[in-house]
Amino acid sequence: MFKKIYKEIKKYDTIIIARHIGVDPDAMASQLALKQAIELTFPNKKVYAVGNGSSKFSYLGKLDKLEDWEDFLLLVLDTPDKKRIDFKDFDKAKEVIKIDHHPYIETFGDLEYIDEEASSTCEILMEMLCATKLKCNSSIARTLYCGLVSDSNRFLFDSSTPKTFALVSYYLAKYPFTLSELYREMYLRPLKEVRLEGYIAENLQVSENGVASIFLTNDTIAKFKADTASAGNMVNNFNFIEEVLVWVIVTEDIKNNNVRINIRSRGPAINKVAEKYNGGGHSMASGARVGSFEEAKELIEDLDLVTKRYIRSVEQNENNEC
Ligand code: AMP
Repeated sequence: MFKKIYKEIKKYDTIIIARHIGVDPDAMASQLALKQAIELTFPNKKVYAVGNGSSKFSYLGKLDKLEDWEDFLLLVLDTPDKKRIDFKDFDKAKEVIKIDHHPYIETFGDLEYIDEEASSTCEILMEMLCATKLKCNSSIARTLYCGLVSDSNRFLFDSSTPKTFALVSYYLAKYPFTLSELYREMYLRPLKEVRLEGYIAENLQVSENGVASIFLTNDTIAKFKADTASAGNMVNNFNFIEEVLVWVIVTEDIKNNNVRINIRSRGPAINKVAEKYNGGGHSMASGARVGSFEEAKELIEDLDLVTKRYIRSVEQNENNEC
């Protein structure tokens, strides 16, 4: 399949690389790394990485402004469904190729490469660059590593497999870059965010079944001079709390007139509940957008039920083993 994708890339003079709305480091890094790899291999092609960015991820590079393109190949990265593609001219594309690691939702590409086992879309691209004549350099390797390390939450998830480590090892050896510099760019944050994190820890409500949740109003976020995105992104910092199996950050998003929900689990699969509320994601890391705090409460009640069932099934398995 990688060779087929390479053949199509070779065919087109103009290539647009899109990804999902609500940009995150894996989505943006995969776009920018693939753009660089194509430009390095085919200097005469016009390649654009599109979509709304975030100043938080500016260390990854710059996205391109929208133009009036024609006759282009559209590569959609890190996006399982059409409605979440951050690109308005989807229907103008001559051909569409999807490369993704999310659980399958729907087919929208002429060619689709989906590897649900991959830690990140960047990991898939690492494989693709090895399997084709697409060139690489230290800057591309660094960007790919950044997306991978972010989506695997620093290799904490089971999605980090021997293949993940083999690829990382290969790239680090062949295209060296300084890890500490990259981590500073990725993880350095202002004190106000740490203070907001302290507020979340202080006010987290934990149910009997181990579902933790916090509701952040716009006033609270403003009090800490933080923004909705950084509040939601803190969800990864609440892993490994003994009493908590599933945790949820609910953030009022005044700008988009909705409520952002970030969900993580270290037990039950949560993506089906997220999907029920117009969201989605992976089994242990999902998200959704809902209309109100009331709807968010319903979602959390559903998560509580799923977690209760999960605890029961674990207990039953343990009893059967005795
Ligand atoms: P986040 O909590 O934003 O880091 O997202 C975790 C995972 O859930 C990622 O794979 C996202 O693509 C997915 N996700 C987040 N929000 C949504 C949404 N509103 N709809 C579908 N998938 C989402």
